[in-house]
Amino acid sequence: MSAYKIETHTELETLKFAQKLAVLLKPGDVVTLEGDLGAGKTTFTKGIANGLGVKRNVTSPTFTIIKEYEGELPLYHMDVYRLEHSDEDIGFEEYFKGDGICVVEWAHFIEEFLPEERLTIKINYIDEHKREIEFIPNGAHFELVINELMS
Ligand code: ADP
Ligand code: MG
Repeated sequence: MSAYKIETHTELETLKFAQKLAVLLKPGDVVTLEGDLGAGKTTFTKGIANGLGVKRNVTSPTFTIIKEYEGELPLYHMDVYRLEHSDEDIGFEEYFKGDGICVVEWAHFIEEFLPEERLTIKINYIDEHKREIEFIPNGAHFELVINELMS
């Protein structure tokens, strides 16, 4: 397993990078986002949504856990922060095996439900505008995606 890192210096740069990733994704792909509150997980998801041609404004699903958006592929945006102390399964597999792109903030809280093949993204807050973004592909498909993304 290999790791890849980039740095962004503005919100726009993060959005653009996420947008570039989105066009490399295929139906059923699961992308997990880790990082502290304010790191940029929802911002990164907005970039993915842009790349998928989602027209609606993407907002944090913290209180709803899952929000669905219509794009060139459906986007399922989850924020599972509220499931930290729960092992509730709210039907994740239907989403993970589905025909859309799943983006999961705080995914380690639902580790037991995550598919093995996934793209893990860790966002580190460096300073007010600077973020370090690490990509950890799991599986051959995501290795290819990341190689393409970094080239
Ligand atoms: P999270 O979902 O991880 O809690 P958000 O995406 O909601 O984080 O918030 C990230 C905040 O950081 C936003 O207010 C965004 O404008 C700001 N920000 C500043 N610089 C960056 C950057 N380089 N990349 C992403 N977000 C940034
Ligand atoms: Mg968020």
